[in-house]
Amino acid sequence: MIRIDALPAFTDNYLWLLQDAASQRCAVVDPGDAAPVLAWLAAHPGWQLSDILVTHHHFDHVGGIEKLKVATGARVLGPVAEDIPVRDLALGDGDRVEVLGLRLQVLAVPGHTLGHIAYYQAEQGLLFCGDTLFAGGCGRLFEGTPQQMHESLERLAALPGATQVYCTHEYTLSNLRFAQAVEPDNPQIAARLSEVSRWREAGRISLPSSIALELASNPFLRTTQPAVIRAAERHDNRRYDQPSAVFASLRAWKDQF
Ligand code: ZN
Ligand code: FE
Repeated sequence: MIRIDALPAFTDNYLWLLQDAASQRCAVVDPGDAAPVLAWLAAHPGWQLSDILVTHHHFDHVGGIEKLKVATGARVLGPVAEDIPVRDLALGDGDRVEVLGLRLQVLAVPGHTLGHIAYYQAEQGLLFCGDTLFAGGCGRLFEGTPQQMHESLERLAALPGATQVYCTHEYTLSNLRFAQAVEPDNPQIAARLSEVSRWREAGRISLPSSIALELASNPFLRTTQPAVIRAAERHDNRRYDQPSAVFASLRAWKDQF
């Protein structure tokens, strides 16, 4: 059985640490900083870091890779289409790779960056999606088009509802405030906003999320819902007949929110 813990980094990043107690091996996702991982290893003698999984090239996701590689010799897995420091294995859409005995599928999810990938574990229902799908929101479009990001999110939205969503940032509260501005009459968004507000006041993290929860409360996955379409149309004072156009409208609205 794999245990997954969040190691906080910077102001709002989480480095996901996957641990296999039977073999005392662990793997980390998107180590933007080496220090939290090295501190964990120092506090857990006998454990070995076997793999470093990378979703995209931004500094807050890759900044600790080289130091961890030198310290532990871990294998570095990352997207084929991006420049990833000391990468051992270049991964693209449809690739399969085994980490800590888990079979992971690689999904290309361009939009936030052009080469962004996600890692999906079907049997246990785990998704490591970097800065693509966030709890209540999605990543900014630094490199891709709204159409690309919309298609990437549609792919993730089609995964089983119970899939646990391990994204990289604690943005949930501000995302849900935007979700509520889009759908002020959605009771599930209101309930989630008050729940996450309580969690954050208590210092508790808001992750992982699930695909089912995101389908119910994340406006970026709800671009075919009449209330969401109407909200985008009202905001921009024009008509939209394509979900990807609704998505583009919401993304631009959120950037200004
Ligand atoms: Zn990023
Ligand atoms: Fe990031």
